[in-house]
Amino acid sequence: MGKLTGYRWISYFDDVEEKRFSDWDRAETCLVCGRSIVHVYEIETAAGETLIAGKECAHKLLGWARPKPRVLETLRRKVEADARRHAEEVASWDRTATKFSQGDPATAAACCRDRNNGFAGDLTVLEKADRFYAVPTDCTAQVAALLEGGWERV
Ligand SMILES: [Zn+2]
Repeated sequence: MGKLTGYRWISYFDDVEEKRFSDWDRAETCLVCGRSIVHVYEIETAAGETLIAGKECAHKLLGWARPKPRVLETLRRKVEADARRHAEEVASWDRTATKFSQGDPATAAACCRDRNNGFAGDLTVLEKADRFYAVPTDCTAQVAALLEGGWERV
């Protein structure tokens, strides 16, 4: 039987209302009933295939006799909390990078080596709005977060 492995809300951010809305233009199809769904539950089969279903139908792919809304709700909340935490992390790295950013790549690199006790390893230099910030290349999570926050590799 299948295993509940994921949840996604197909949505878009409205800049005017400053909140997210369901994006029915990109809705997917529930494999059980064929309806369009934006609250998508992912179920992994024993064969390793990922199937998708809506809230009302997921239990059928999971082999449950009846829906267990609370189990789905728990997963949804966890996914949302993880996403919020991740967004906060991206914003926090962005604030740090902005605070320590410099007017040119060489100064940014020197500044990074200073902040890291003379670190001599590889640096990744990033740019956003004509400001430069460098991080040790090994800090892959930080680099990924900065790229997500709109910084670009120089
Ligand atoms: Zn369905």
